[in-house]
Amino acid sequence: MHVLIIEDEPKTSSYLAKGLGEHGFVAERARRGDDGLHLATTLEFDLVILDVMLPGRNGWDVLSAIREQGRETPVILLTARDSVEDRVKGLELGADDYLVKPFAFSELLARMRSILRRGPGRHPDLVRVADLEIDLPRQRVQRAGRRLDLTPKESSLLGLLARRRGEVLSRTIIAEQVWDVNFESDTNVVDVHVRRLRAKVDDPFPAKLIHTVRGRGYVLEDRS
Ligand code: CA
Repeated sequence: MHVLIIEDEPKTSSYLAKGLGEHGFVAERARRGDDGLHLATTLEFDLVILDVMLPGRNGWDVLSAIREQGRETPVILLTARDSVEDRVKGLELGADDYLVKPFAFSELLARMRSILRRGPGRHPDLVRVADLEIDLPRQRVQRAGRRLDLTPKESSLLGLLARRRGEVLSRTIIAEQVWDVNFESDTNVVDVHVRRLRAKVDDPFPAKLIHTVRGRGYVLEDRS
């Protein structure tokens, strides 16, 4: 696995490179934003770790330039402060995740592994199934041009079904992905939330998009 670290603080940069090396990654380093952008767009990396405050070009600029050039390499942003605006901006520009400094190396490793497990290519930000439109990073949902008001849990559930549309997802998978815990004993929680989601997404409309597959789970798809 080939990782690019774009970070101007020498201590952080060498600490990251050393740690990644110990975990079997090959790390390339850039100190300046413009140099990092050049490497990110001319070589092939499995992942880019990108600091926001950089000389040359800042991390936001580098990230949007990488995406404008059609590169879908996963990017983890390193930010100095935890603000909602920064997080939203990062996701809108196409970051896959972000970490707030200072962070534990184990945390970075966990995020990297989770991104790399998802496989290559970014997920599309906007998913359309028939007249249902789901804007994943903004968690905005509309159907037949009408905005639907979902709770955060309903949004996560619909987001998961949307990212994997056409694929039957078991209650266990849904519970793990949406609640982040193992609900094996009580997958009823999933059924209850699917029912609530249907009440908003499907019930007011003639064509149903969330389907129950008996004994297997749920799937979001257009069957008309
Ligand atoms: Ca910096």
